[in-house]
Amino acid sequence: MAKKKTEKAAATKYKPLTPAIIAEMEKIVGRQYVIHSDAEKLEPFSHDEISEKEYAHMPDCVVRPAAAQEIAEIMKLANREMIAVTPRGAGSGLSGGAVPVFGGIVLLCDRMNKVIEFDKANMTITVEPGLVTNEINEIVRPAGLFYAGYPMSLETCYVGGNVAENAGGGKAVKYGVTARYVLGLEVVTPKGDIVQLGGKLVKDVTGYDLIHLMVGSEGTLGIFTKIILKLMPLPKASVDLLVLFRTPDEAIAAVPEIMTKSGIIPTAIEFMDRLSAHAACKYLNETLDYKDAGAMLLITVDGPDEQQVMQQYEAIGEQCLAAKAIEVYVADNHTTSERVWKVRRNIAEAFKVQSPRQSLEDIVVPIASIPKMVAGLEELSRKHDCQIPCYGHAGDGNLHATPVMNPKWSDQQWHDRLEQILVDMYKLTASLGGTISGEHGIGHKRKKYMPLVCQAAFIDMMRAIKLALDPNCVLNPGKIFDC
Ligand SMILES: Cc1cc2nc3c(=O)[nH]c(=O)nc-3n(C[C@H](O)[C@H](O)[C@H](O)COP(=O)(O)OP(=O)(O)OC[C@H]3O[C@@H](n4cnc5c(N)ncnc54)[C@H](O)[C@@H]3O)c2cc1C
Repeated sequence: MAKKKTEKAAATKYKPLTPAIIAEMEKIVGRQYVIHSDAEKLEPFSHDEISEKEYAHMPDCVVRPAAAQEIAEIMKLANREMIAVTPRGAGSGLSGGAVPVFGGIVLLCDRMNKVIEFDKANMTITVEPGLVTNEINEIVRPAGLFYAGYPMSLETCYVGGNVAENAGGGKAVKYGVTARYVLGLEVVTPKGDIVQLGGKLVKDVTGYDLIHLMVGSEGTLGIFTKIILKLMPLPKASVDLLVLFRTPDEAIAAVPEIMTKSGIIPTAIEFMDRLSAHAACKYLNETLDYKDAGAMLLITVDGPDEQQVMQQYEAIGEQCLAAKAIEVYVADNHTTSERVWKVRRNIAEAFKVQSPRQSLEDIVVPIASIPKMVAGLEELSRKHDCQIPCYGHAGDGNLHATPVMNPKWSDQQWHDRLEQILVDMYKLTASLGGTISGEHGIGHKRKKYMPLVCQAAFIDMMRAIKLALDPNCVLNPGKIFDC
């Protein structure tokens, strides 16, 4: 069994970048694509979208390759010189995954942003990792197709980052998460080989399922340089319901009922408590009419024709009213739908502006346990004298509970108390059969909490896989677990 080392001890094994190594990298990717010795230019790559500064770390250098071959050469150089390499997409991550915790090289994928092939007949699109996710639908929609991956950050994040995090999002209730759509990958291994996995096949059981080992590996097992995604037929009709409830408990209790009693799997069931909706409306200068509501559900239904969608949303609306909803609003055109979804998409940003001292969490429980989870969060909020607004993908059991610093506390008090709040929150999640991340990943933000939800043998198994592929541990070290 590999011995666990502390980050400090492991840090000593990575070597500093010398002028000769920088010159070698400039030769590989071109001088203008290597950033070094300029703190102002390097700083944006020292963090992702986590607001807490303690998770940031400066890189020594940022390289911007344009091809798999260049990345392969960088990985060979990194192994030869013992330098840490951290792959980075758009930096919209929420677990510190793209943060170079041991310095070294940040490998930025922004120049690899092309669509390689749109294959309408096979319903696939082959892209480079630096393509902004939303662009896929712009390209395939005119052909009557769509890509079902829908993280709320889709206007900024990259496809490579989505694959590395196995991103979920707003359509996962019906369509599932990113992994379901990844048919093929080209991967540069930590040792610098270029490997093709899968292809355009819908079925493939030839050997181990390495694609699904790579998906969600958070940039620790390989760097994706080509991604083949499955597309779906574009639904011809779609309607959103904004459903108001008096209390979060009532809204949350309605979620499993909607699916079991109406017999319909909606495309999305998003939950926002009053604090979250209010923060996003204020941030956007929006005025959603949420009256006396203590919480709301945003439910999407899509399908092949308007009549079927109407039948479904009427059935769901009735079910919500039976589950104590106080109002059901129907958004059946793009402008109104976009208004309510914009509020939902901007909650995280709104909280960040409101208070930088907060911790956006990503807990997930079996859907039938969501009411107990929400009640438990309310209890934790009282126990720790700290607001914990809550929103998220309720239909998946995935809640972004967000402890926000009590303004009476000092930064040190916040730091100390947050630790206890998170331990309590994660223990409660585990006791309900849940875990600490549904879509944002572990990165280095949640690494120390892994033993609360994972058996030691599970962590050892992951470490063994990591060391088999990356014996020097040069690719994104310090993430998920120590190696
Ligand atoms: C406002 C907001 C809303 C969000 N909503 C959602 C949501 O609904 N669902 C969701 O799942 N996430 C969400 N996120 C989190 C984030 O957008 C996702 O995790 C996204 O997938 C990260 O993509 P990125 O390109 O920004 O990756 P980065 O943050 O740059 O990197 C994330 C991880 O991917 C690795 N990586 C990046 N590129 C590659 C590559 N080519 N090969 C191998 N590894 C690579 C990095 O090393 C890192 O570990 C949200 C974030 C914000 C700020």
